[in-house]
Amino acid sequence: MNTTKIILITGASSGIGEATARHLAAQGHQVFLGARRTDRLEKLAEEIRSTGGLVEYRTLDVTNFEDTQAFADFALEKFGRIDVLINNAGVMPLSPLHELKINEWNQMIDVNIRGVLHGIAAVLPDMQSRKSGHIINISSIGGFQVWPTCAVYSGTKFAVRAISEGLRLENKDVRVTIISPGVVESELAHTITDPGTRSMIEDFRAVALKPEAIARGITYAIDQPADVDVNEIIIRPTSGA
Ligand code: NDP
Repeated sequence: MNTTKIILITGASSGIGEATARHLAAQGHQVFLGARRTDRLEKLAEEIRSTGGLVEYRTLDVTNFEDTQAFADFALEKFGRIDVLINNAGVMPLSPLHELKINEWNQMIDVNIRGVLHGIAAVLPDMQSRKSGHIINISSIGGFQVWPTCAVYSGTKFAVRAISEGLRLENKDVRVTIISPGVVESELAHTITDPGTRSMIEDFRAVALKPEAIARGITYAIDQPADVDVNEIIIRPTSGA
């Protein structure tokens, strides 16, 4: 087992974040979980503790910078440092642009882009001052390719990749990793309100990875020695998108 790391995970109440919390805690890491649905976090924390894992949680809305800073500060006070931040929280209410679902576009921009920037801002000063740390940003295959109905979502995930690369180039002491999953079983498509898009996406999502596959990829990047920065991993289902 590697040294215990202090690992913050945003969006840990379901899907990839939840599976990653379980997996990293099982490896002996101290996980600190954030999301808006604290009932879910409480249940997950109880489960992890019951198997001997080290876990804390706190309510978090990544669209609010003060809230995100308070989340990071809580971890700093409790543990004295933050080794890894996993910017995982995301939403995907897909629709064709002509439907003009402006509130949903703004929601994707707020969570998927601003949320990632808020996470970076909340932990970067500590990591820079200690000349050590690791920021993992969850993008998507939608960060490489655009499909109809995915224009805004893909735009946010292209942005995550651009922000991550800029962060990496500017910070030689902080490791930066982009994880880009293909289709994964989760609650991500539940926010789609456009009926046509919802049925199209169900076909697209017929072949999906279990979220544990992404958790293993994230763990691989974290567990590398400090002088090794895994820059980017794409993880797709073998027989799917
Ligand atoms: P889920 O919908 O299962 O999980 C999304 C998580 O984000 C939830 O825990 C949710 O928690 C959290 N979240 C949403 N809004 C906020 C907010 N404002 N503040 C804090 N947390 C928030 O989906 P996935 O697990 O699939 O998604 C995780 C990441 O993986 C996302 O960034 C997504 O874009 C990306 N991804 C997923 C793929 C897939 O096929 N599943 C493919 C490629 C990328 P709560 O509602 O409790 O706040």
